[in-house]
Amino acid sequence: MTVQNVESYIAGQWIGCDSSAREIHSAVTGELIGRAGNTALDIGAMLDFARSKGGPALRGMTFHDRARMLKALAAHLGQHKQALYDISFATGATQKDHLIDIDGGIGTLMVYASKGRREMPDDTIYLDGEVERLSRHGTFLGQHICTSLTGAAVHINAFNFPVWGMLEKLAPTLLAGVPAIIKPATATCYVAERCVRIMLASGLLPEGAIQLISGGLGDLLDHLGGQDAVSFTGSAATAKTLRGASCFQGNATRFIAEQDSLNASILGPDAVAGTPEFDLFIKEATREMTTKAGQKCTAIRRIMTPASQVVAVIDALSRRLGSVVIGDPAAEESQMGALVSQAQRQDVLEKAALIGQEADRVFGNPDGFVVHGADRDKGAFVPPMLFHCASPDTANLLHSVEAFGPVSTVMPYRDLEHAVQTANRGGGSLVASVITNDLDVARTVALGAGPFHGRLYFNNRTSMKESTGHGSPLPHMVHGGPGRAGGGEEMGGIRGVMHYMQRTAIQGSPDILTAIGRKWVPGANEITSHDHPFTRTFDALEIGETLHTAEREITLDDIENFAHFTGDTFYAHMDDAAAKRNPFFPGRVAHGYLLLSFAAGLFVQPDEGPVLANTGLDNLRFLKPIQAGDSIRVRLTVMQKSPRNQDYGEVRWKVTLLNRDGDLAAEYELLTMNAYHRDEP
Ligand code: NDP
Repeated sequence: MTVQNVESYIAGQWIGCDSSAREIHSAVTGELIGRAGNTALDIGAMLDFARSKGGPALRGMTFHDRARMLKALAAHLGQHKQALYDISFATGATQKDHLIDIDGGIGTLMVYASKGRREMPDDTIYLDGEVERLSRHGTFLGQHICTSLTGAAVHINAFNFPVWGMLEKLAPTLLAGVPAIIKPATATCYVAERCVRIMLASGLLPEGAIQLISGGLGDLLDHLGGQDAVSFTGSAATAKTLRGASCFQGNATRFIAEQDSLNASILGPDAVAGTPEFDLFIKEATREMTTKAGQKCTAIRRIMTPASQVVAVIDALSRRLGSVVIGDPAAEESQMGALVSQAQRQDVLEKAALIGQEADRVFGNPDGFVVHGADRDKGAFVPPMLFHCASPDTANLLHSVEAFGPVSTVMPYRDLEHAVQTANRGGGSLVASVITNDLDVARTVALGAGPFHGRLYFNNRTSMKESTGHGSPLPHMVHGGPGRAGGGEEMGGIRGVMHYMQRTAIQGSPDILTAIGRKWVPGANEITSHDHPFTRTFDALEIGETLHTAEREITLDDIENFAHFTGDTFYAHMDDAAAKRNPFFPGRVAHGYLLLSFAAGLFVQPDEGPVLANTGLDNLRFLKPIQAGDSIRVRLTVMQKSPRNQDYGEVRWKVTLLNRDGDLAAEYELLTMNAYHRDEP
């Protein structure tokens, strides 16, 4: 077998390892399969390449450009994933595990591509939250904006998910417009290296957008400054060492850490044997113990059950674990492969022995188990090991030692408060699951365990068919946890992008805010065009372009007709005396929806034209009631434009309804899809 020289990609060059390189062995056969590491990497050139090439190129693209790039990258990786599957078996992972790592990573890119297009503007500045009114007359306002950091993002990844772990960090980073330097864990860096080669070969990424360090990081951290960020996944011990680096102490380099976690799963008091929830609990716990041979940061380490259910849970889990086929991960029948290395195997056995000081092993014997199609001693195989601890209150190791393998401990709880207390003894975890069909149980656990967990996963008979699994972090949802879990946060949709951007409070006049954010702010200049804005194409419309309509009087007949036509005969529109008794109305008033309909009648230009559809309205407020005899007129202003595709884009209009005295009667934001200009064929 050839021994791979796993290379690094630095400043546009692939560089092999040197004599300092570390050996990489197959998790399955124990054979030497690769070497990685080079102490002579030019860190300065690497950072310069990221900061002066990758960063400016990415920042020159809008969020939509970057999102399109991520989508194309995901599609490209999808076409080449077989190559990644093929080499990943040597990490000990089965084909099912590859789906989580490789397909899961590609899926994460896809979600960010979609969110980038839908939830971010086609711009390079992201507006965070609403405009804040800072002055009485509205001439001085506030708005938070986010702009891309101008440094590099250093991603230090764990061994267990060489593809997903890389892509879940890369997607938000690239969407933020920041170049990445990726440092995979050495044990599985050959998979990350192949994935980086595929991404670079796609030609989709600007030069300098990604670089790779296979092997040690050298003194890279000493060169980082306040515009750089480090995102780390791995052990608490390494995180502790890294936190001492001078860049964090002296330069306030951002640090996101995701580290060990003693995740809990709680069987609800209602979910006794015989209920669908009980079976679901057993299924989830077995899956979490055996997927990736338990090498998942989110795996269930502590299984909490009502005291009365301990025996039933141990029996059911043991039966299921007993049917798990352990063996050559490349073989179709294998349900659980090997740990990543002999070192990891040794570590897991040592940690399991520590847990054994406080708990009895009730399933799985590391000295007596069957491995199919591979050599049990040469490969890093261990069996699933289930422990039982009858007194979790007096235990300490159970709540502090993470055996990063297929190891979990069943423990009883007296009541729900006790279950929450026990879960929280993990000192801060990535996730806890609660399997219950009792809504009060869910609320109690959310309140009690929320502060100690980054994610709470509830599952029951309603959601079990579609639920995504205790252990699956999703790009839409936050991944990370407090305390022992590292205190970091990743993903969570656009929240994850913000880790690589600077939030700045902007204060100024409405015109200044409009110019910076490219979103019209009330009080800013209006642009009057000769043509009705509905006759103007998406590309021609300007931010601030405004139409002032004629006035329309509202009559009692209008209110009567609307009431009977729609069936909305609510007393405030029909009965003057009853309306007067209501603190909000001076007497009979027009329906809010009547006002909206009349407003449309005032501002719409009816001819076939560039406005394709009204897709909704946001932030509707009725501010002052309108009575018969009063009138309304409308101000319609182009607030924001968001391209959707080559044919059309979304226009957000500010619509303001004024009464005869010029007071605000209602306001909202109208959304339409507007076509681009097309030359006649
Ligand atoms: P480590 O903490 O040993 O390594 C994580 C990453 O940090 C690797 O890329 C590693 O590189 C790098 N690293 C290690 N030391 C340094 C250093 N001094 N300076 C810079 N980088 C460094 O974790 P592992 O990946 O080996 O996993 C071991 C443990 O981490 C597991 O047993 C588990 O407890 C925890 N873990 C937690 C996860 C989570 O998401 N919470 C996920 C995976 C693991 P190299 O490999 O080259 O040493």
